[in-house]
Amino acid sequence: MYDVVVIGCGPVGALTANLLGARGVRTLVVERGTEPHGQPRAFSCDDEALRIYQQAGLRAEVAEGMYPPSRAEYVNARGRVFAEIALDEVDFGLGAEPLHFFDQPALEAALRRGLDRFPHVTLRTGTELVGLRQQDDRVVATLRHDGRDTEVEARYVLGADGARSTTRTAAGIALTGSSAAEPWLAVSGDVEPGATRIATTRFVCDWRRPAFVSPGAGGTHRLEFMLRDGEDPKAMTDPATVRELVAPYVDPDRFTVTRAVVYTFHTLVADRWRAGRVFLLGDAAHQMPPFLGQGLCSGLRDAANLTWRIAQVLRGDADDALLDGYEAERRPHTEEMTRTSVRLGSVFLVRHRFAAALRDAVLRAVQAVPRVRRAVRHFEFKPRPVLPGHRAPVGTMFPQPDVAVGGTRVPLDDVLGAEFAVVGPGVDAATALGWRGPVARFVRVVPPGSAARGDITTVEDVDGALTAWFAEHGTDVVVLRPDRFVHATTVATRTTAGR
Ligand SMILES: Cc1cc2nc3c(=O)[nH]c(=O)nc-3n(C[C@H](O)[C@H](O)[C@H](O)COP(=O)(O)OP(=O)(O)OC[C@H]3O[C@@H](n4cnc5c(N)ncnc54)[C@H](O)[C@@H]3O)c2cc1C
Repeated sequence: MYDVVVIGCGPVGALTANLLGARGVRTLVVERGTEPHGQPRAFSCDDEALRIYQQAGLRAEVAEGMYPPSRAEYVNARGRVFAEIALDEVDFGLGAEPLHFFDQPALEAALRRGLDRFPHVTLRTGTELVGLRQQDDRVVATLRHDGRDTEVEARYVLGADGARSTTRTAAGIALTGSSAAEPWLAVSGDVEPGATRIATTRFVCDWRRPAFVSPGAGGTHRLEFMLRDGEDPKAMTDPATVRELVAPYVDPDRFTVTRAVVYTFHTLVADRWRAGRVFLLGDAAHQMPPFLGQGLCSGLRDAANLTWRIAQVLRGDADDALLDGYEAERRPHTEEMTRTSVRLGSVFLVRHRFAAALRDAVLRAVQAVPRVRRAVRHFEFKPRPVLPGHRAPVGTMFPQPDVAVGGTRVPLDDVLGAEFAVVGPGVDAATALGWRGPVARFVRVVPPGSAARGDITTVEDVDGALTAWFAEHGTDVVVLRPDRFVHATTVATRTTAGR
């Protein structure tokens, strides 16, 4: 019997299996396709996503070829910039730039290679889930390979099988929400050096044809165009039409189209993300419009939130109730991201000349207010990673500055490991001896240049970011969950614990 069967080896399933593998969980991943999905769909990821890849030990691998854009511009029908996000001025303190563009096939290949590190993780391609049966202590999954059905048993089944999830249907979970009426043409391609006509990331808020255009990772370019009423999706992918649409942004003679597909975006969420021993993650649990680039990122957060819980329960360190925290924490954040994406879309997708003129005027006027301008420019409208039902700093994501260990500068999480961590200037060997919580690493934070003590891992707070955090929150010991949210803080004997 497996500990976990993951259904689907898209980006969310592959990451989930890596995070389980890193915690020693015996995992089977089943993927219907025989080859990785060769097509780029997701295009951008954020600092939280990179931190999650880091937890899986794959940050360097996935970051190769990614690039952080410096600006994202909103332009009107005449190409005039009316709002700008200055990404190079933004640092949310999580150890990476706030936005990166990537190539999805390269990302998925890196995630699959990551699975080879774990002898206890098996990937079966060309194999699909066709049915599920739940028992008190296990799930029996029926898998089909080459037309033959077999059964496997697992303690838990995690459905990361995308928008049309079989896991979701087999678990009897419905989807609620809507599909946008407007289909979009998404074009990806390789652009020769010097052939880019608009070199910045742009939301083209042209009421006649809203569009998103941006240079991507490794000499690629992404261009997305809303279809007008009555336009035939098939005709829109015709090479002559694509050529005409991309021409204002890239030289079509020096642009090789690798993909041109029409999509309809959805705003949908599963009614439940858990049914007994079956859980849903990624697009199987929720789908949102891409205007904030958060569809995949949300799925990665699901994986980071659920996998440590599963590992704890399997190890016998926690009881089943810990697993209910997954949906309780992830659903509100995902719904907030979805609402923000929809709101951004409604600014971006105005379809009438007068409404667009009014929007441009209103946005110009409100940005005359410095606070509003700053909120736009510094991306403050993006929902922050905060867990519901806690009082800050409990439930917030802990910062990830660089620290020095034995004279070498490294990102903090590299020192913290894959489990709980107890961190702070107040941590010493006695903290570890008195600890009654789950498996944890103990890390003492000291000012730069302080002598390390042999009895405990010591990090130098080279830029002062940790010292400032502890001072701001009036504490000197923090308990961090494996997904790097603050679980509890302590000052001497007083403890403020998360649920
Ligand atoms: C045009 C476009 C642009 C986007 N841009 C962004 C962006 O910039 N940033 C972002 O974060 N998100 C973006 N998204 C969203 C993002 O692409 C998805 O959220 C993400 O790909 C979902 O990943 P997933 O692993 O959950 O599902 P999928 O990628 O759909 O993977 C599911 C996997 O499960 C397999 N599978 C399905 N059924 C079964 C079965 N029964 N048995 C076994 N295997 C099965 C499938 O073969 C597939 O490999 C965009 C989406 C689109 C369409």
